[in-house]
Amino acid sequence: MQRIFSGIQPSGIPTLGNYLGAIRNWVALQADHDCLWCIVDLHAITVWQEPAELTRATREMAATLLACGIDPARHVLFLQSSVPAHARLAWIFNCVARLGWLNRMTQFKDKAGRDREAASTGLYVYPNLMAADIHAYHATRVPVGDDQRQHLELANDIGEKFNHDYGTDFFPRIEPLILGPAARVMSLRDGTKKMSKSDPSDQSRINLNDDAEAIAQKIRRAKTDPEPLPSEPAGLEGRPEARNLVGILAALTGTDLAGVLRAHGGQGFGAFKGTLADALVATLGPIAAETRRLLGDPGALDAILRDGAARAAAVADPIVAEAERLVGFLRLR
Ligand code: ATP
Ligand code: MG
Repeated sequence: MQRIFSGIQPSGIPTLGNYLGAIRNWVALQADHDCLWCIVDLHAITVWQEPAELTRATREMAATLLACGIDPARHVLFLQSSVPAHARLAWIFNCVARLGWLNRMTQFKDKAGRDREAASTGLYVYPNLMAADIHAYHATRVPVGDDQRQHLELANDIGEKFNHDYGTDFFPRIEPLILGPAARVMSLRDGTKKMSKSDPSDQSRINLNDDAEAIAQKIRRAKTDPEPLPSEPAGLEGRPEARNLVGILAALTGTDLAGVLRAHGGQGFGAFKGTLADALVATLGPIAAETRRLLGDPGALDAILRDGAARAAAVADPIVAEAERLVGFLRLR
């Protein structure tokens, strides 16, 4: 069975983008893969996190993943900071990756904003840690949203350079799994920007814990254009906001853009937004309710994460120890 690794940052409440681009696919992959699901708190602090809020968001992320159908008995759910192998391998990769490679990463440019000199060095080397997350388990398949494609290419470059420099074939190639019609859900305020849980505007996203009223209100206020919906996908060209809303409904109802437009082409956004809000509430309502129930027992959540960390470390520790031996670190007898 192929080993899958994927991560999500506890940098806020998970969004519809995280659900459709990542979590929902994770749940499906559990049927025929051996999966490691990691709440990547080391990644989260590459931008400022209020400590108490980070702690709270981490438990909430664990509860949400379980509510979505992540199975901690057959697979492994754990916190990145609980398994030191990630940070150990990341340091080695900091010394393998080249400045020129990191300079090409578009997520750094997006997240650092205008004042790049003020960005943390952690944000800059974030892709090296992500490469370590995956390679520490010899994972070969990584289900992510389309926004992570460039980081996965870099993870392969790092694995290859390590293998080349140390004369080994220790790190396998990683295959990205970018699945579904909503691999990139865009902001509700700007159809050219991806939906993010750390976007300062709450109106830009649907949070997985939004209630029916909040969902309906955010969809009503979502940016659109004055034209009715086209009857074919080609008519969405140059209309990023319209395309995004159609893509979201397609993902929720298990069809594609063409399927949604066959049913709703010619409709104005008033009516379409009503249908979309109803579909969102039907999917997200039960997840929010189950998340609230799980948050009522933090001890049980922590026990799941503690067990997950022990099982993750049992896989990663020998792999990272071997990488350290290949580098030439003296292994004391
Ligand atoms: P942050 O803004 O803090 O980076 P995020 O919303 O981008 O948060 P991440 O924790 O960085 O979420 O990513 C978790 C997973 O969700 C990744 O697999 C990523 O590809 C996916 N993902 C994130 N945003 C979207 C989106 N808008 N559409 C589809 N997939 C997404
Ligand atoms: Mg992100």
